[in-house]
Amino acid sequence: MPDKNEIERRKQIKRELREKARLEFEQSLPISRVDFQNLFDFLDEKLSNQECDDYLTFTYEFLEKNEFKNIEEIENWLKNNGGYCDCEVLYNVEEMFDQDSIL
Ligand SMILES: [Zn+2]
Repeated sequence: MPDKNEIERRKQIKRELREKARLEFEQSLPISRVDFQNLFDFLDEKLSNQECDDYLTFTYEFLEKNEFKNIEEIENWLKNNGGYCDCEVLYNVEEMFDQDSIL
């Protein structure tokens, strides 16, 4: 059985790994957290009035309205994270931010 120091050491390693994963996620973001939150709010409102059309239509609308310059990078990032259309951005991508805040 591992002694107390060993248990502490393992806990520390776990904490560091979690922190590292959090940082990597944070650094991979093509726009700020606040921008993402605004995007989620925007999509939430749009999709409460209208069905998702299986494209990133409202996402583009938001990105263009706010004059983001790296729309292609943002689109790729969203797709890499399971957001292939507006409703998926809400269901798959927003969840990642929630989980991340729990860590
Ligand atoms: Zn959809």
